[in-house]
Amino acid sequence: MASPAPALAESPAPDRRPRVGILALQGAVREHVEAVRALGAEAVLVRLPSDMAGLDALILPGGESTTMRRLIDLYGLREPILAMARQGAPMLGTCAGMILLANRLADDEEPVLCLLDATVQRNAYGRQLESFEADLDIPAIGDEPLHGVFIRAPVVSELGPGVEVLARDEADRPIAVRQGRVLATAFHPELTGDRRLHRLLLGMIDR
Ligand code: GLN
Repeated sequence: MASPAPALAESPAPDRRPRVGILALQGAVREHVEAVRALGAEAVLVRLPSDMAGLDALILPGGESTTMRRLIDLYGLREPILAMARQGAPMLGTCAGMILLANRLADDEEPVLCLLDATVQRNAYGRQLESFEADLDIPAIGDEPLHGVFIRAPVVSELGPGVEVLARDEADRPIAVRQGRVLATAFHPELTGDRRLHRLLLGMIDR
């Protein structure tokens, strides 16, 4: 049975800190918590639908998308996350989080949330590039390059017309994208002290 949609926050009063949920089923959760707190927002660990009440934004971290997919359904989180997106709450998916957001997955894998009009292929950078780092130009967050950490990263092979590319890799493939209030990166922006992508997410909250 579908879980009822949790109530979202009214537009936060200017003196209320934004509440940012971090899906905490598995994966790189702690670093996102630190990034959110460093920006003066409240970080809320999301494991159950009841944890989602009053959230202003949601982060889907990196980790293992097959495990997260299973736990999202086990804990009944799919419908509450979709309801939050329908209400316009900004979301950031990093690496496995991007895989969870995508409308289409390569190799006939079932998509999960379908909130990003993209085709994503898991682990597609290839064995030799299981893990690498690169300085990325992301004009939407400023002139300074952002140091991106890629760990068994997904490749975006197709994008719908409503999706804006914020950054590309050396082979010209999109690695940071935005569709409305959904932001997604193939890399882990939370593993360095650079908070600019998290700040971009917070700036997308209605106030
Ligand atoms: N390879 C992982 C997956 O398919 C994603 C890796 C990551 O999030 N760092 O889910």
